[in-house]
Amino acid sequence: MTSPTSLAITPDNIDLGAFLSELRLWVEMETPSHDAAAVNRLVDHVEGYAKTAGLEIERRAGTLSFGDILIVRTPRPEGTNARRIQILAHLDTVHATGTLAGPLPLRQEGDRLYGPGIYDMKAGVLMAVEAMLLAMRAGTHLPIDLLIVPDEEVGSKSSRPVIEELARDAAYALVVEPARDGGKIVTARKGVGMFDITVRGRAAHAGVRPLDGRSAIRAAAQLVLDIEALNDAARGITVTTGMIQGGTGRNTVPAECRLQIDLRLPDAAMAAEVIGKIEAMCPTDPDISFEISGGLNRPPFAQSPEGASLFETAADIAARLGIALEGMATGGGSDGNFTAALGVPTLDGLGADGAGAHTYDEHILVSSLAPRTALLANMLVSLDRNG
Ligand SMILES: [Zn+2]
Repeated sequence: MTSPTSLAITPDNIDLGAFLSELRLWVEMETPSHDAAAVNRLVDHVEGYAKTAGLEIERRAGTLSFGDILIVRTPRPEGTNARRIQILAHLDTVHATGTLAGPLPLRQEGDRLYGPGIYDMKAGVLMAVEAMLLAMRAGTHLPIDLLIVPDEEVGSKSSRPVIEELARDAAYALVVEPARDGGKIVTARKGVGMFDITVRGRAAHAGVRPLDGRSAIRAAAQLVLDIEALNDAARGITVTTGMIQGGTGRNTVPAECRLQIDLRLPDAAMAAEVIGKIEAMCPTDPDISFEISGGLNRPPFAQSPEGASLFETAADIAARLGIALEGMATGGGSDGNFTAALGVPTLDGLGADGAGAHTYDEHILVSSLAPRTALLANMLVSLDRNG
């Protein structure tokens, strides 16, 4: 731990001008998740940048048609096999190519720097690289791995095995996703579940033989009410039928109806409970059938005692930087859900402060960059094996 009076790294140690010109290059390279070639152009650039700065690189070829995965490491001291600090980041964005030339040009207005993916989360990736370099110079207790993935915005399907592989010997996971309103960091995230349900009945002419039909839409309507009855605001469980589709025409008793369900679940016990209830749903009419598929996409990331003490460490460093750090729980998922579910103390939202993620209002607050990079760098320096 750092001494109570001094910090190893202060915001003055960050060259903000150099940071901003590098960040502009990153934002100018658009990286929609599904365009592997575009993502890899930025991966090439970040790889070169980190290598030149003295960090070690492992690059793994993309799978499932996504871009490559980059692991940026501090050099390991000889003969150590200490557990590591894992930093989690992504280079893909939700914005399509052309956003920069269209609705969201890279531009500064006062303290706000706008651009696609700048807040979620290219600024956070660069903050992580800079913090690693500062921590290296100041001396760290633990080796640091920065894992940069290409598909976080679409569920991290290609990255999840690597995230979990590296998490197995991680002492801590720090996620440089953007800070939440007012610079808050994220200490808990709900799990995210998805179900697709097809309800099948029997078609019939609505005028000639209505009694022969079994309406899939009527059965689906009842099913929506039964599923949404699982909502429990007091416990933080939310269940939403986001899409419904069915029928073939006005005068036909509908044979089929499809539902898309979204679940947000605060902890593993509640996830098992709600998912079990949905999987057990069955029609009362023997001529109706349900085909239910899906489950948990990202496990819940609940506040653990180790996570709480990691937050205390961060809040203590932040206070000495003049930042009043607040934690919060959110219903949105991130790759921190995977590490927390494996029991790794995880803090999320350590990236830049700003607003407008996933919208054309996306921006960072330039004034947040140096203090929050210093916060991250001091955490890297002060965390030891016992926290
Ligand atoms: Zn993100």
